[in-house]
Amino acid sequence: MTAVLTADACATAPIARVSGCDLQVPLVGGGTCVYANFDYAASAPALSQVTDRVQELLPFYASVHRGAGYASRVSTEAYESARGSVERFVGTDADQVVVFTRNTTDSLNLLASCVPGDVVVLDIEHHANFLPWKNSRVVEAADTVAETIRRIVAELCAKPAALLAVTGASNVTGEVLPIAELAEIAHRCGARILVDGAQLTPHRRVNLTESGVDYLAFSGHKLYAPFGAGVLVGRRDWLDEAEPYLAGGGAVREVTVDETCWAPAPARHEAGSPNVLGVAALAAACDALAALDFEKVVAHEQVLATRLAEGLAEIDGVQLLRLWSDAPDSVGIVTFTIDGYEPGQIAAFLSAEHGIGVRDGRFCAHPLLNRIGHAGGAVRASLGLGTGSDDVERLIAAVRQLVAGEQ
Ligand code: PLP
Repeated sequence: MTAVLTADACATAPIARVSGCDLQVPLVGGGTCVYANFDYAASAPALSQVTDRVQELLPFYASVHRGAGYASRVSTEAYESARGSVERFVGTDADQVVVFTRNTTDSLNLLASCVPGDVVVLDIEHHANFLPWKNSRVVEAADTVAETIRRIVAELCAKPAALLAVTGASNVTGEVLPIAELAEIAHRCGARILVDGAQLTPHRRVNLTESGVDYLAFSGHKLYAPFGAGVLVGRRDWLDEAEPYLAGGGAVREVTVDETCWAPAPARHEAGSPNVLGVAALAAACDALAALDFEKVVAHEQVLATRLAEGLAEIDGVQLLRLWSDAPDSVGIVTFTIDGYEPGQIAAFLSAEHGIGVRDGRFCAHPLLNRIGHAGGAVRASLGLGTGSDDVERLIAAVRQLVAGEQ
């Protein structure tokens, strides 16, 4: 795996190095090779700024809040200042609050416990942004973004809804929805908007204030930080009015045997000892990404993703998965099938013979796979900051070899 943005188009961009580059992996035919990671959409390897931050904090981690000892003060400062890193990373406004969770799934379940009304959702969502919503009204996505938006408008106009919950970037096709336009539509219809940012935040600058997005959820482990920490950022009032997501210590102002006075958000929904290291790591990732020249990152990724998609499409029997013919943008995800091959077979071949890590299956998006005629699953190659053009050429050559039967 090539270190980010060096040899390719972005030599002048600040470098966000990815830890764990150049991992050697064994091959079935014998020997080893450098691992080519095409599984960023599942979890991205830590940035070196993230591992540095964790190493710096590790000797001092302690329970946060109200501890007068040095380690507790260091941990409390790390935990609370992490909210500022998230706020800067996603451009919150004064009315929005950052709640730390375990991951995107946890954030969406938390918001689902706070929504005071119906939720309008598309049928193509990741299960994490589909299953938690209780009073959901499902809109069938169309073949174009334009028609899909018309259907969303019709549903929002037909009956009042509290929330429109949409994905920022599809974890299956990488296609991006116009979230500022959807925010404007939701507000016009009296609803708020939640964006599932699990796949969007690692690839695109998100600014909640500029786009008008009310709630955003994302995960540390997809943002070049380790597992176990995620974020729900959004408007304070619903979060303050709802019952605490978890009841317990830290979420209260005062407790008597008969009565509990809950704290406002974020503490209200963060009961128990929090994941200080995970949150600090996530904040370090936000700071590192915020410092990058994202225009260059995006341009670089688009060159690689386009080359990968075109290179694969030229191979006999390869079909690329797309939802829309008019998607305004797409992040670095290329998902495909090969006629006559099971997705699991392809993924196993790429790993065993070429040291290439991809993902196969149905990507926790069964309705989407059914809708686009790939109910049996597919293979997903996802790109990130460590991907280089050599990796892309290697993947194309490996697929070509598989199809040519030169195993
Ligand atoms: N939403 C999208 C679009 C995703 O791709 C994923 C994970 O793949 C999730 C939500 C759930 O993320 P997590 O497993 O970190 O909760």
